[in-house]
Amino acid sequence: MSKVIRILNDLTINKIAAGEVVEGPYSVIKELIENAIDAGASNIVVEIKEGGQKYIRVSDNGVGIDDEDVEIAFMRHATSKIEVVEDLNSVLTLGFRGEALASIAAVSQAQIITKPKEQLHGVSLDIVGGDIVNRQEIGAPNGTTIIVKNLFFNIPARLKFMKSSQAEATKIGEIISRLALSQPNIAFKYINNSNIMFTTPGNNNLEQTILSILDKELVKNLLPTKIKTNQIEIDGFISQPTYVRGNRNYEIVFVNGRYIKSKLISKAIEDAYKEKLPINKFPVCILNINIDPNLIDVNVHPTKTEIKFHEEQIVYSLIHNTVTSCLRKNVTIPSLVMK
Ligand code: ADP
Ligand code: MG
Repeated sequence: MSKVIRILNDLTINKIAAGEVVEGPYSVIKELIENAIDAGASNIVVEIKEGGQKYIRVSDNGVGIDDEDVEIAFMRHATSKIEVVEDLNSVLTLGFRGEALASIAAVSQAQIITKPKEQLHGVSLDIVGGDIVNRQEIGAPNGTTIIVKNLFFNIPARLKFMKSSQAEATKIGEIISRLALSQPNIAFKYINNSNIMFTTPGNNNLEQTILSILDKELVKNLLPTKIKTNQIEIDGFISQPTYVRGNRNYEIVFVNGRYIKSKLISKAIEDAYKEKLPINKFPVCILNINIDPNLIDVNVHPTKTEIKFHEEQIVYSLIHNTVTSCLRKNVTIPSLVMK
């Protein structure tokens, strides 16, 4: 092994970072949808082919990217969402690391078409393995479309680890449905191999959004739950203890609109169900938690699906109490019961 110490070039750094940010097609989709949400879109269309490995398209009607910023958006650590590290204390956007577009473009054949409404023309950029190969001005609708083809085409080791298209599509369906549930004010459409899998109304009605995505039997078994204190607001649905699942996939939790996985929250929920749950069974819940951003740390992991609560005990107790009292009341809301 050579002893020469080198600073890696940007493309190499991006490919290495892509290993953390881009685990597979579903994480590309998560990052692109998060960008569309941050761009203020009211309409997001996601299309995939062959489990997303061959083709992913995410289109939004958000603010778009200015002509002169399009290339910059694909550079590492390029972000419009924070300026200094202190901004992380109050960050309300889903993105802030400025590495998704750079990472995705380093390991795929990508195209972006984007147009802010103030601009007369749009810009189209083609990037192959991190290199810009084409740029042109084109007519385009307001907003942004990103197409990602042949993910990991230049990382054979990753390609080998790709699951079957079917398995990838299942994970993709799950992540899109969670992001759609986290934003009932945005109309989502998900197309897989030319089939429309679901569309959500985008009318800010969580019940109708749940109905458009999850199975009807589940919806019949959900109880509404709500609590508001000075520091935290919890709103959502939990399942009757008789309606359970074999894993935690349906313990769906959002904190300030961010889909997260939290052992603390899972434990608070499951402890509240306690002996009401059969062994190795888990409840279904969709909980929106709003909390002062100063009380959490979102910068825990590159995929941003983990956060830290500064006051874990308070969060645990609030969720535990909310779920416990909801189960005690145990009344299904009529509006959710199918006609
Ligand atoms: P981050 O989201 O952490 O800022 P990204 O690499 O995901 O980093 O995106 C880089 C920048 O590109 C964003 O900060 C944003 O300014 C711009 N951008 C990305 N996607 C979109 C989009 N769909 N609409 C508008 N701007 C976007
Ligand atoms: Mg982003």
